[in-house]
Amino acid sequence: MVHWSLRRQISWVQLAGHEGNFKASERGHILKKFSAVENACLVALMEDVLRPYVPTYYGLVERDEQTYIKMEDLLMGLEAPSIMDCKIGIRTYLEDELAKALLKPTPRKDMYNKMVALDPEAPTPEERKQQAVTKPRYMQWRESVSSTALLGFRIEGVTVEAGPVKKNFKKMKSRDKIMETFILFTKGRKDILAAYLERLENMQATLQNSEFFRKHEVIGSSLLFVHDRRGFSNVWMIDFGKTTPVPSHITLRHDVPWEVGTHEDGYLLGLKNLITTLQDTMHM
Ligand code: ATP
Ligand code: MG
Ligand code: MG
Repeated sequence: MVHWSLRRQISWVQLAGHEGNFKASERGHILKKFSAVENACLVALMEDVLRPYVPTYYGLVERDEQTYIKMEDLLMGLEAPSIMDCKIGIRTYLEDELAKALLKPTPRKDMYNKMVALDPEAPTPEERKQQAVTKPRYMQWRESVSSTALLGFRIEGVTVEAGPVKKNFKKMKSRDKIMETFILFTKGRKDILAAYLERLENMQATLQNSEFFRKHEVIGSSLLFVHDRRGFSNVWMIDFGKTTPVPSHITLRHDVPWEVGTHEDGYLLGLKNLITTLQDTMHM
């Protein structure tokens, strides 16, 4: 008994976020550091038609004076899993974040350094002088160098058959490169690509009927693709740390470009592009 629970803890893999945000739990569950925003989403999602597409929520627990959200471990039952984290949407910051930053721009040296590390030419002369950029500026720039702005999704991290985690996708913009990555990720297996497509198409249909989806700006959320050699596969919606209810007079479409004030996130634009990209990958 001890053996497999130990093995599970070791094989749990995290493709994004700070490592300290997660803690192992008993078999089949994981703990994520509490956020009121994410907690409210998971509670609401348990009552929504989207429930089959999100990790099951098991309430809150305390560990070492820190509150955690307990949820389903989506890697449960997989052998040497292949995992991909794909961030959905044409925008990765909240309208509120933008409004705040415009009111009171806080220069961020850490973001300036990250920007220069990826592209030394990116900062403006003014930013270079300050050796700092604002957060929305950094995030908008990141969206423009990745496929986020153009396609409405970007790959954040990948591991193939429990191998090393690759995160060098920040500048991946072209559809061809993304298709190559899906081939590497699935080892070109059509059965797995087909299963992913079917799940995404069902998800797309369910999103149209979701009360939760109509009323939430879904920002920085990902689709987590998981499969293993035996051909077990699934895709899940995760990470609701920035998914926030829109003002009551607004109902979101999710399939139109964003303009300031509309709260539109382009989630369905991204999902559609992801589906056609996977279809083309299948026929490569
Ligand atoms: P960020 O906001 O920087 O993306 P985060 O701290 O909000 O990070 P998540 O994005 O929710 O964290 O998750 C980070 C990674 O942890 C995911 O990419 C995935 O690999 C793993 N993960 C998250 N939730 C689960 C889950 N329920 N089951 C299995 N793996 C998960
Ligand atoms: Mg995430
Ligand atoms: Mg997050």
